[in-house]
Amino acid sequence: MIFEGLAEKLQGTFDKLRGKGKLSEEDVKAALREVKLALLEADVNFRVVKNFIKDIEERAIGQEVLESLTPGQQVVKIVNEELTELMGGTQSKLTLASNPPTVIMLVGLQGAGKTTTVGKLAKNLHNKGRRPLLVAADIYRPAAIKQLQVLGERLEQPVFTMGDKQDPVDIAKAGVSHAESNGRDVVIIDTAGRLHIDEKLMGELKNIKKAVKPHEILLVVDSMTGQDAVNVAENFDDALGVDGVVLTKLDGDARGGAALSIREVTGKPIKFSGIGEKLDDLEPFHPDRMASRILGMGDVLSLIEKAEQNIDAEKAKALEEKLRKEEFTLEDFLDQMDQVRNMGPLDQIMDMLPGMGDIKKLKGVNMDENHLDRIEAIINSMTLEERRNPDIINGSRRRRIAQGSGTEVQDINRLLKQFKQTKKMMKQVGDMQKGVGKGGLKG
Ligand code: GDP
Repeated sequence: MIFEGLAEKLQGTFDKLRGKGKLSEEDVKAALREVKLALLEADVNFRVVKNFIKDIEERAIGQEVLESLTPGQQVVKIVNEELTELMGGTQSKLTLASNPPTVIMLVGLQGAGKTTTVGKLAKNLHNKGRRPLLVAADIYRPAAIKQLQVLGERLEQPVFTMGDKQDPVDIAKAGVSHAESNGRDVVIIDTAGRLHIDEKLMGELKNIKKAVKPHEILLVVDSMTGQDAVNVAENFDDALGVDGVVLTKLDGDARGGAALSIREVTGKPIKFSGIGEKLDDLEPFHPDRMASRILGMGDVLSLIEKAEQNIDAEKAKALEEKLRKEEFTLEDFLDQMDQVRNMGPLDQIMDMLPGMGDIKKLKGVNMDENHLDRIEAIINSMTLEERRNPDIINGSRRRRIAQGSGTEVQDINRLLKQFKQTKKMMKQVGDMQKGVGKGGLKG
């Protein structure tokens, strides 16, 4: 999970605070000392932590908070607001030119995830109806051009290259002209990286910038490198000037030091985050949603957006119809599970649900992918008739299904019970909706 270590510590601290009812000034100070330690351990910049804690303390130790009916809750609310502010307050979007093509230049150190991000961004923009052109201007890393071509093929989007013998400045310029004459409205330029920042690299990037005047220079940094990522961002911004940051590998970042410091230290917003190696694993960065996730309050808005992208609207409608008619079967159950899985790793999805962090910690709650695999195997071992009418599944059928799916009879029992409960619950929701339609929930 993203920022797992940090999230766990903060949530532990706030659970204690909420459990107390009345709070004294000393209670709040003690909690903030824990928060401070947690942030430092997460590799957040020292200066950033100091100011952050000071701001919260000023707001939290007033009478208004301490004498309120839910002081613990109030403190969490303040922390949530300040965390959001720390990461930039509101979402910072890409600048798209009013007069296309928009030119976006991606820069960053080698291995940060630049080339991958070019592909992810192209996909993201293409999904929104844009016509991207990928330009291969990294002529030094041997596989970079090929890597971009492979990405372009997978995305079915054109890639502009001139091999590795030409000057990257000329390649970038020719790429933009190519886009102009071929009706491509966004140019995404993949530039060279180095293991460390050096004069020659910066010189080249400055020349490309001068030649193509990008609307957006995005710096790609690896969040797992913590404060190093922040230093890299400062250096790039001083030398080249950047418009925004893409924070990659957030999926493997248990600490969060880069995400929480970079905006405050450089003044430059995080525009996207990379959350995996696949082309879909790019998210627009929403400071408020990220703060909620860190504090265990979930991120329902991102979940809904994910669902909109991945769930087949036709199927969803058909399902609703079935629910209304009480025809929901185990086949539909399987189908629905498939759709949920399309949305991404279960762990990622669960983290977006409020309070799920706590539920996952409970003993005996089994929400991992293996569990889903087992359910799928069980349903696959049933005959069509059994799936449509589970009531006929008697003892001998249960034994047969268990054998076929490599599970135990108890597993079959549990699944059938779960299915019955789900069906009942869905019927209740359906009835409630009908009630609302008739104004039944009013008053
Ligand atoms: P470049 O040298 O900056 O162009 O880096 P690449 O795009 O080649 O990426 C380096 C490695 O990081 C590759 O193995 C990518 O698959 C991986 N990578 C990039 N972004 C992410 C991300 O958001 N999450 C994870 N887990 N891996 C990533």
